[in-house]
Amino acid sequence: KPIQLTSFCQEIINQLKVAYKRNIVLHANTDSLSISADEFKLKQVIIIAIDNAIKYSKAKVDVYLEEYDKHVLIRIVDYGIGIPEGEINQIFERFYRVDKARSRQTGGMGLGLPIAKNIMKQHHGEIKINSVEGEGTEVQLMLPKIKNKNMIE
Ligand code: ATP
Repeated sequence: KPIQLTSFCQEIINQLKVAYKRNIVLHANTDSLSISADEFKLKQVIIIAIDNAIKYSKAKVDVYLEEYDKHVLIRIVDYGIGIPEGEINQIFERFYRVDKARSRQTGGMGLGLPIAKNIMKQHHGEIKINSVEGEGTEVQLMLPKIKNKNMIE
């Protein structure tokens, strides 16, 4: 089923803004972009990333929706505690949480990112994380625009 990405992202953000009482801003360079994806699963990935951005920061969260030739990029950017360089790969492992002491205050199982990675893989996309400890984190969700036979409807 085609998803109109700008309104899709804006709706999720509106729901989360109300739920968390935090400032989340969408910056989109397109409003006519539709892609084929599982709506429920894609929503789950975006919620996982924004939920983390909110848990591990205190300022606003920026969400960028960027259309390129062959792919779409959704970037979730926070200005929070960040992730130590050596741990960026491990956070995609199930039950992995950075620094038990700080994580205990926020709660969570360490399952969000592994689930997100799995869903992105099902969509022939990718999830990448860039982070600087003490400065913030950027989660990149890449989705191909081209539909192929194996693509999830
Ligand atoms: P949940 O199972 O509820 O998602 P979680 O947030 O601990 O719990 P993941 O989403 O898998 O689980 O994240 C794993 C770990 O990666 C987190 O515990 C946290 O230490 C770190 N992390 C993830 N996103 C961020 C972020 N935006 N800023 C800082 N640390 C992050």
